[in-house]
Amino acid sequence: MLVGHQPKEFLLAVEALTVSFDGFKAVNDLSFYVDENEIRVIIGPNGAGKTTVLDLICGKTKATSGSIQFRGKELTRMKENEIVKTGVGRKFQNPSIYDDLTVFENLEISYPRGRSVFGALTFTRDAAVRDRVHEVAEMIFLKDRLNVNADLLSHGQKQWLEIGMLLIQDPDLLMLDEPVAGMSVSERAKTAELLNRIIKNRSVLVIEHDMKFVEDIAHKVTVLHQGQILSEGTMDKVKNDPKVIEVYLGH
Ligand code: ADP
Ligand code: MG
Repeated sequence: MLVGHQPKEFLLAVEALTVSFDGFKAVNDLSFYVDENEIRVIIGPNGAGKTTVLDLICGKTKATSGSIQFRGKELTRMKENEIVKTGVGRKFQNPSIYDDLTVFENLEISYPRGRSVFGALTFTRDAAVRDRVHEVAEMIFLKDRLNVNADLLSHGQKQWLEIGMLLIQDPDLLMLDEPVAGMSVSERAKTAELLNRIIKNRSVLVIEHDMKFVEDIAHKVTVLHQGQILSEGTMDKVKNDPKVIEVYLGH
């Protein structure tokens, strides 16, 4: 009897994805697959198309062709807010936190609305929100800063706060564009620890340049070059790949 291969269940399956800006293909026939509970890092030279890949997944940019399946749902036909509701959270390069609100308030306003099982029982909902805010604040190393205005936080703490504002929505896929840029060495180490902790319940897709940080977090690395995959695999495999060495030495 012929035993066929069962199709593997990926959290995210990107297939033959292409986007063309006035004839220029920033992402060109790209396919890659992310597992549940995986930290995937996308690296590559400037202009490789890394940010555009995240823009396509979160619906900010519409694909010219190809498909993006998330838990079997086709994202390329969805609007940005529908994609968020499906469980995809995305952090941009510049933190979009509210400077004049406290850490607590920033987390509180990010708590998803309309998903409450408590209905009109406002008191119960408030308690649930407060508990969740404290839980997330602890995760992002800000539990002692809950009543501090966000503009008084360090650059690194602001980045963590924005990650917290996404975590409170409990996304199944969290996408981060250069999260440790401008962070101190110790903040980078703590961010690696944070990402390694949160993947118990989700997957993370990160764009990053800092190779020490990539080594600390990546389960698998995808090297992008001119909108296509140059190499993919473990950090060890990728960094010894002659094609990768050539592209990086050329820059
Ligand atoms: P990376 O993040 O890897 O540095 P990007 O994804 O930002 O690269 O950009 C890839 C290429 O696509 C660049 O040449 C950039 O100029 C181009 N590009 C990105 N977004 C747009 C857009 N909205 N319109 C036209 N060109 C774009
Ligand atoms: Mg970029």
